[in-house]
Amino acid sequence: MTMREQNNQGGKLFIRTFGCQMNVHDSEQMTKLMEDAGYSLTGQAEDADVIIVNTCSVRAKPEQKVFSEVGRFRLLKEKKPQLVIVVAGCVAQEKGATMLAKLQFVDIVLGTHNIQELPSLVARAGEKAKPLVRTEFQERVESLGIIVAPAPKTTSAFVTIMQGCDNFCSYCIVPYVRGREQSRPLQEIIEEVACLAQAGIKEVTLLGQNVNSYGKGSNGNFVRLLQEINNVQGIERIRFTTSHPKDFSPEVIRCFAELEKVCEHIHLPFQSGSNRILAMMGRGYTREEYTEKIKTLRSLCPEIALSADVIVGFPTETEADFQDTLALMEEIKFDNLFSFKYSPRPSTRAWNFPDDVAALTKNDRLAALQKKQMAQTLANNKAREGKIEAVLVEGFAKKKNDLTGRTRDNRVVNFSGEEDLIGQTVPVRIRVGSQNSLQGELWRR
Ligand code: SF4
Repeated sequence: MTMREQNNQGGKLFIRTFGCQMNVHDSEQMTKLMEDAGYSLTGQAEDADVIIVNTCSVRAKPEQKVFSEVGRFRLLKEKKPQLVIVVAGCVAQEKGATMLAKLQFVDIVLGTHNIQELPSLVARAGEKAKPLVRTEFQERVESLGIIVAPAPKTTSAFVTIMQGCDNFCSYCIVPYVRGREQSRPLQEIIEEVACLAQAGIKEVTLLGQNVNSYGKGSNGNFVRLLQEINNVQGIERIRFTTSHPKDFSPEVIRCFAELEKVCEHIHLPFQSGSNRILAMMGRGYTREEYTEKIKTLRSLCPEIALSADVIVGFPTETEADFQDTLALMEEIKFDNLFSFKYSPRPSTRAWNFPDDVAALTKNDRLAALQKKQMAQTLANNKAREGKIEAVLVEGFAKKKNDLTGRTRDNRVVNFSGEEDLIGQTVPVRIRVGSQNSLQGELWRR
């Protein structure tokens, strides 16, 4: 039997995803394409006919993990030679055919702009003696238009509104592996959101590397997009990520106060509290501009919760620069922080800077910063105790028989309740604020 004949009968697909929400959504899209080609998902790599590893290259450590993860599948391929192994995502885009030197048993290397070709490449994989490599950047990213039908009882969905980035922050590999910024047409996005609402979705998260600059050029702008989604019947909550402080305009800030469905949470990476380091990073804003925007946002929307990304140990970062970062945290009092040690990435401008902050110093700074943030997160969560929160119920909690959901300001709440509450927004009285979540009880007056 040829591979093509096998594919026509369908088969089992195993997919492993690394990295950001963009990658998670790309994996959903790849799954949809493969399901349309007759495949069904399996949670066991051993049962699969096709294995996809969707990779992330944003930092060195996850990239190394990718190589060991793919290497793990070599034995499966030896036992089952017709197994098709696909490496997709940012590492595939970055390394292209060169990754095959280390991973000779891989059948397909699939770049970030070539997702649409996945089923046809899989169908051809068994017929070709050599691995297939597709990493060309396209004028128009076709996969942006793949609509993933939500699974039954799902309340939230991702919607990609743009792909790529034009900012070229000095440390960041994204523009090299995702390409230049491309926005989807506004009407297409609205139609997708309306379809999702009809399928029972209550909350959409708009995805892009730099969502605030959506529509740069001709497709409308981000504020208009938010206004139109706010009018879609059935949608109750709108979230978006990732925002960039330089493009976080007064008009976007006003949306938090004026559009009822825009949730009171923003993820606004600041990366460093030192203006000297921010300039070296090429971020396009100062610490003062960042804090000013937060002040305006809080004056218009006092309930807003804030999360951010921060990097420690950027080249030349001194103790004084690091103290500036801690001081910024003290001033803003973030609800959550995603913190990383700097690691140089090839192709970026910072690759040529001296990586001169000692590994031990990076570790110490990261630990100090995380300790400070953990205390702040706990204090902010404790401050919710006794409050009644509107919780959109997403499903069952992992550890107990409780239900789990989120507040509008993106805090996880677990509470006891009946299954039929899934998909509804219900009042929950918060009893205990813990490090990672809130525990509450259904509020009945
Ligand atoms: S804004 Fe900067 S950090 Fe974010 S994706 Fe673009 S280049 Fe990377």
